[in-house]
Amino acid sequence: MFTGTPVSQPSTENGEMMSSGSELTPTELTDLRDKLEKLRHEFETMVQSSGTQAKPVQLDEPIGRLSRMDALQQQSMARANVETARHRLELINAALRRIRDGIYGECLECEEPIGYARLKASPESPFCVSCQGQREKSR
Ligand SMILES: [Zn+2]
Repeated sequence: MFTGTPVSQPSTENGEMMSSGSELTPTELTDLRDKLEKLRHEFETMVQSSGTQAKPVQLDEPIGRLSRMDALQQQSMARANVETARHRLELINAALRRIRDGIYGECLECEEPIGYARLKASPESPFCVSCQGQREKSR
């Protein structure tokens, strides 16, 4: 029986969560794309500037044996950081490509929505929480 109130709209009780944390709203997508663009810029700068930072240690500088070790260690750490940055940059670019293709936000493994909360924390992640966990376990 109708009570007189038109019920054409679905219940708005859970508002934005309507499809229980699944597909992204256009606003969320824009937000994440902005984040990705910024991240890409950050990491590109990092990777590019690393070329100048990773100069060989100046051996004629009057630094002791220990500090030279330090410098070498710092250098290899910097190199490792660049590797990480490069890897993330790849993920970020891939994510931006998926946005263009309109498949962003889906897990590459199970095709379930990754979820806004997770994407907000790491917008470049291509997998949902459980698939990511499985991949890390199987390594
Ligand atoms: Zn998945």
